[in-house]
Amino acid sequence: MQDMFDNAKRAAGAMVGRAAWEAEKTQRIGAIQRELGLLQRERAALLDQLAGAVSDLSRRGEAMPPALKAIADRLAAMEDEVKRAQSAIQTIQAEKYQPTAAPYAVSVAGPEKACPTCGARMPSSARFCSACGARLA
Ligand SMILES: [Zn+2]
Repeated sequence: MQDMFDNAKRAAGAMVGRAAWEAEKTQRIGAIQRELGLLQRERAALLDQLAGAVSDLSRRGEAMPPALKAIADRLAAMEDEVKRAQSAIQTIQAEKYQPTAAPYAVSVAGPEKACPTCGARMPSSARFCSACGARLA
């Protein structure tokens, strides 16, 4: 009986020991990850500065090694691409909803048929027109 009690106590102790060990391990990793986050942020900031310096050299037409020139060219092209992507988003955001005769039929893939009453297109399996409600053959 005493043996069983001792074993249970040892097992419980081992569980607490393991939980504390896991927590301490997580804490150590967390501390290093925070440090890594700071390093990555600083690295990104430095790369931004480097990109700015390279772009300045390129704009002033200064001679630079081909590798830097390639980076400057790509940066300039990227600025255009970013502007185009941003304006594409603005264009889509400005789009207004325009109800169509057959709002559901247009997005349906597969065989279609036309409503004999209103001409709206819909899946050939439709039994009623989704635009005018007419019964379909
Ligand atoms: Zn119809």
